[in-house]
Amino acid sequence: MKKNILLMLLFIVILLSSCSLTPYSRSEFMMDTQCVITVYSRDDLDKLDDVFSSLRDIERMVSRYDEGSDVFRINEAAGVRAVRVSEETFTLIARAKEISLITGGAFNPLLGKISDMWNFTGTEHHIPSQDELESIIAAAGDMDNLVLDEEECSVYLASACLSLDLGGIAKGYASEKAAAMLAGEGVEKAIINLGGNIYAVGSRSSAEGWRIGLQNPDSSEGGYFTVVNASDEAVVTSGSYQRYFMSDGVVYHHILDPSTGYPAQTDLASVSVINSDGTLADALSTALFVMGSADAGAFCTEHGIKAVLLTVDGEISYLGIDGAEG
Ligand code: AMP
Ligand code: MG
Repeated sequence: MKKNILLMLLFIVILLSSCSLTPYSRSEFMMDTQCVITVYSRDDLDKLDDVFSSLRDIERMVSRYDEGSDVFRINEAAGVRAVRVSEETFTLIARAKEISLITGGAFNPLLGKISDMWNFTGTEHHIPSQDELESIIAAAGDMDNLVLDEEECSVYLASACLSLDLGGIAKGYASEKAAAMLAGEGVEKAIINLGGNIYAVGSRSSAEGWRIGLQNPDSSEGGYFTVVNASDEAVVTSGSYQRYFMSDGVVYHHILDPSTGYPAQTDLASVSVINSDGTLADALSTALFVMGSADAGAFCTEHGIKAVLLTVDGEISYLGIDGAEG
């Protein structure tokens, strides 16, 4: 099962490469997914060592399972005490809180205990009862329970039933940081793909951006359902098809509705957000998926967010961008 999920993640977004460019890729498994960086000059390959090393640092910082990580220590001290963290961790958590508030709680980084109960990444799945979920949902629904002290650079989870989970935002942050590092090294063209969190560095040519195909969620059909243009932008996709299990014919996927603790019941099959801010794009793709097409559309219009929504009925909405190109 896990292997199948990983294979799916590899193909979330299909890059439409240019015939005139020669790609040089390096790939590593981290952050529970396959991370691939492609550059278009052989000389740029050497620059990837530092970038992969930085990605590993981010993984160590946000992992919920690595005993030394900031997030592990915050979760261990939930309901007991505040934990000092690195400035980088603090900034990312502050961002997660801010986006949770902007999205009316659709993005919620405090659902770690609930995700653990479902155990989407493991083999032994569990369908939690309302009783099991009730107190966690109530505590997670109050963002004041995520206490941030900027002066102390500390984070405190004010209830023992809370657990921080940055899985909905960390890969977008990592892709953006990798893109900034490459640009800082003078790399003009690159594609960073962290399990479907794409960052398109530079452009394909002076005339046009990168063309990125968005995967058809129906794996039996394969391929992509549309193509978007991106230049120095992230293209981040969230979908129910990315990680799920089936029980008694019912599909249980990994994107949770914070108001129920159950997989979001939404009319959307996939959401892709295009934004130069990879962190925002990642968190928003998760939040918009939870909101469903009507609220997601209104949110994007109000906040000027570029996105592609695909409903389970196959209807595509292009928000802030032109329609399909191929
Ligand atoms: P993504 O693939 O970016 O949509 O993120 C999904 C991951 O974020 C899940 O595997 C969980 O770790 C976490 N998650 C699930 N539901 C939510 C939510 N409503 N808000 C924030 N993070 C979530
Ligand atoms: Mg996300």
